[in-house]
Amino acid sequence: MTDAPAPAPVSDLAAARTRLQPLHRADEARVLAELLPQASLTPAARTAVVGRALGLLADLRAAQGEGWVNRFLQQYRLNTAEGVALLSLAEAFLRVPDSETADLLIRDKIGTADWAAHAGESDSALVNSATWGLVITRALMGEQEKASVLRRLVARAGEPFVRQAVGGAMRMMGQVFVMGRTIDEALARAGDKDNRGFTASFDMLGEAARTHDDGKRYFASYLAAIRATGAGSKANAITDRHSVSVKLSALHPRYETANAGACVPELTDMLRTLAEAARDAGICLTVDAEESERLEMSLDIIGAVAALPGLKDWDGFGMAVQGYGKRARAVIAWADALGAATGRKMTVRLVKGAYWDSEIKRTQELGLSDYPLFTRKAATDVSYLACARDMLAAQHLYPAFATHNALTVATILEWATDILGSESRDFEFQRLHGMGEGLFERLVREQGYKCRTYAPVGGHRDLLAYLVRRLLENGANSSFVHQLADAAVSDESLLADPAVRIKAVGGTPHPSIQLPVRLYGDSRDNSAGIDLADAGILAGVAARIAATGLGPAPAPADVGAAVTAAHGAFAGWAAQPVAARAALLDRLADLLERDREPLMALLVLEARKTIPDALAEVREAVDFCRYYAAEARTRMVTMTLPGPTGERNELHLAPRGVLAAIAPWNFPLAIFLGQAVAALVTGNTVVAKPAPQTPRIAAAAVALAHEAGIPADVLRLVTGGGEIGDALVRDPRIMGVAFTGSTATARRIARALLDDENRPLVPLIAETGGINAMIVDSTALTEQVVADIITSAFRSAGQRCSALRLLLVQEDVAQRTLDMLRGAMDCLVIGDPADPATDVGPVIDTDAHGRLEAYRLSQKARWRHSLAVPAGDFVAPTVIALDAIGDLRNEWFGPLLHVVTWKAGELGQTIAAVNALGYGLTMGLHSRIASVAAMVEASAHVGNLYVNRSMIGAVVGSQPFGGEGRSGTGFKAGGPHYLLRFVHERTVSTDTTSAGGNASLLSIEDVAAVP
Ligand SMILES: Cc1cc2nc3c(=O)[nH]c(=O)nc-3n(C[C@H](O)[C@H](O)[C@H](O)COP(=O)(O)OP(=O)(O)OC[C@H]3O[C@@H](n4cnc5c(N)ncnc54)[C@H](O)[C@@H]3O)c2cc1C
Repeated sequence: MTDAPAPAPVSDLAAARTRLQPLHRADEARVLAELLPQASLTPAARTAVVGRALGLLADLRAAQGEGWVNRFLQQYRLNTAEGVALLSLAEAFLRVPDSETADLLIRDKIGTADWAAHAGESDSALVNSATWGLVITRALMGEQEKASVLRRLVARAGEPFVRQAVGGAMRMMGQVFVMGRTIDEALARAGDKDNRGFTASFDMLGEAARTHDDGKRYFASYLAAIRATGAGSKANAITDRHSVSVKLSALHPRYETANAGACVPELTDMLRTLAEAARDAGICLTVDAEESERLEMSLDIIGAVAALPGLKDWDGFGMAVQGYGKRARAVIAWADALGAATGRKMTVRLVKGAYWDSEIKRTQELGLSDYPLFTRKAATDVSYLACARDMLAAQHLYPAFATHNALTVATILEWATDILGSESRDFEFQRLHGMGEGLFERLVREQGYKCRTYAPVGGHRDLLAYLVRRLLENGANSSFVHQLADAAVSDESLLADPAVRIKAVGGTPHPSIQLPVRLYGDSRDNSAGIDLADAGILAGVAARIAATGLGPAPAPADVGAAVTAAHGAFAGWAAQPVAARAALLDRLADLLERDREPLMALLVLEARKTIPDALAEVREAVDFCRYYAAEARTRMVTMTLPGPTGERNELHLAPRGVLAAIAPWNFPLAIFLGQAVAALVTGNTVVAKPAPQTPRIAAAAVALAHEAGIPADVLRLVTGGGEIGDALVRDPRIMGVAFTGSTATARRIARALLDDENRPLVPLIAETGGINAMIVDSTALTEQVVADIITSAFRSAGQRCSALRLLLVQEDVAQRTLDMLRGAMDCLVIGDPADPATDVGPVIDTDAHGRLEAYRLSQKARWRHSLAVPAGDFVAPTVIALDAIGDLRNEWFGPLLHVVTWKAGELGQTIAAVNALGYGLTMGLHSRIASVAAMVEASAHVGNLYVNRSMIGAVVGSQPFGGEGRSGTGFKAGGPHYLLRFVHERTVSTDTTSAGGNASLLSIEDVAAVP
């Protein structure tokens, strides 16, 4: 482009940037109120838009009829078992290296769905042949056709035949959405007759980088793609040539806010090189838009590259903006300001956004104040249209509208005519390869509009994640392409004006997507999180923590005196209504949230927690308080039991007396308080003893409990070492012990409780350790497995009861998994936990360090990987290979991960060997085969099984936590039965006739006698 406007002041750019933050989690209705005027059509314009959209619909329908994949997806919608089976098969099949597991996967997915019901239904020959392929596959495996010709055929051809058929079908589907396996193949295809008139933007497919090697590999493939694309480009105007799109997450394994200090400059450097290559090749380069928490970092990187003097005369730089984000319109304004400040037109590709569902889930998990994106589809459309109108009017943007929605396209055409004039073609549409066929052909080939196809390039292994995203997009009910294919959706509904829809509901959020605080409905509030992905917020929290000092530890108290006080307070506390006690727990939860940051600082300084771990712990403590309060309200009620007439039978729950709560140092706030408040809310008084390493946190928690209104003698703190704990549990006035810690200490407590023959038999509620295993089979996604291993084994320096100790990986994928794991471990930041960038801090104290280090060094011959660590109590994250599961005898409470491989077909023996260790706390499983998950669930003796996710971070009320065997007594903390361990059950049976006759029986009315 030669007509680039003159540079504008950089101050405008800075001002534009400041408008983003306030919108990030702003109230949806308020954001929409500002967008609506810009997205609304006049009645005349609306008539024109609908007319044009109807024409586009007709073109689309005609073209879609020809696409067999569209027909296929129409047949197998995501709300059918077959659609889900197809999706999960597509996601996993092509990466499975061994035939045994591949066959199991096919049997699992195809065996569960009713393919025959679809056979012959479609009028597309290819859909039917694909369906029949699946029917045949099912028949080959199924019971119903045992004697059939097909079965005999498979006996002869063998399962490889089925495998190849399914593999072929999956590859066929991949080809529809992927332009080519290599850039050369893709370039050739982009020039064929189907793509005549369309330009392409090539993207190199793959998962986000997990290792620096991944990043380097993607970088090299992007660079090669840019050069090849440039070499093949002939058009005069840069925007008329093929281009390349780049995902920053593919270039860096730690593209995260906490690591911005390292990753932003590194990514800026990489993007600069790619941009220079694109400049030299004479093509455009667009930075894709990714998760909302990466937006600000991406703007830093894009802004820095755009401002480089060497790139000033290059008009090919661009970025994608997601309309579903509340900040979208402000980002458009920023991009325009960037174009102005750097004297160029920035290409902006406006998309609606591809991560909607995962963003909603993540916001809920993190307990954040509001969503970063809209919750109604129509709201995203409104935002998209408002942004589009801004873009058309902007001085420093070259607009690119990526959509497959005919109404969106028609509206943009209307506004383009209005703003730029009917002759202008100084903007383009974009579509995904394999989608939106028919929508743009007439516009491009007959009316001279421009359209670019986003063209993914990659081999079969790389296309899986992309394929699933496309299948989801095609299959989601809210999606335009899905609705288009649905005969039940009328044109009127398909073309309903989104602005009118949003006005009709006043811009309010979707009623079924509650704010994170309302996740548990009316029963209780979810604990509030802090948006640590916001650089400003994170820096503020970190600075305040750094400025905090550790005060003196509380003075040790006299155990006997504490028990005496708690004993004296028992009767009065037990007599309180449960509602009054529960209200105090709710108040305590509020105070914990009020003091969240000082508590986090204590957790970082005294317990050596990282900042995210400290936040998670405060949230867990809050959740325990609110959850047990809610549980007590519903469970501590008198039940009337059935029986013969003339008597009343009632069951109620009564507190036990003074309970001891003995907590560990690894969750010095959450477990310490969780045990105590469970005992308190059920009417017991408590003497609480923290671990000797973390007395200050305990003192702060008890002080808050007292401030909340729990009387001082009802909750007493005693600090000190094992001798204090021993004296406490041996006091005969203690009517039960809640303990979390080592199995050895739990045994000592159990013995101490039995020593005194005159003492009542009192319960020990113990949560102890475990040798926690994660089983990985060859259907698992290695990138996801590695991320979950890193979290489960090394986060919190491996000092969680739930942490992964023993990785059990199927031999066929062991090499790849361990290679990637090594690379991902190398990206871990080990250092001061108060530094936001730190992933792994020191272990709790010098003693622990000494024990762990001695063991680690003794295993040196078996190390598969180990990291360098700073001086101090740091234990190097280390992978230790063992020959057999039984070789691991102890729970090593630190960042030490043991690995054993297993052969396909030996899953049963593997689980049995884990069970034989005698522990039963957590287990992880990574497999895409439902029957494997069912088998593990049925045979593993564990309290918490985590499937296809990390093994840590149990959420109160959602994932009650606790083990069996040597791992604990139950019931689970944070679960619906926990409170029952803290109470006696008492029944009262009253003979109501004893007062001289059964009055109620005698006064029963005889219906027949009543006229
Ligand atoms: C050329 C091209 C490049 C792309 N690049 C990117 C990229 O860099 N980054 C990226 O994230 N995506 C990218 N995408 C994917 C894009 O986000 C989706 O294809 C797009 O959202 C589909 O929109 P549509 O107008 O075709 O369909 P429509 O059916 O009109 O819109 C579907 C979209 O609406 C939104 N939505 C659905 N339900 C809700 C709800 N309840 N509340 C709020 N919003 C909802 C979602 O964004 C969903 O994808 C790209 C797409 C194309 C065509």
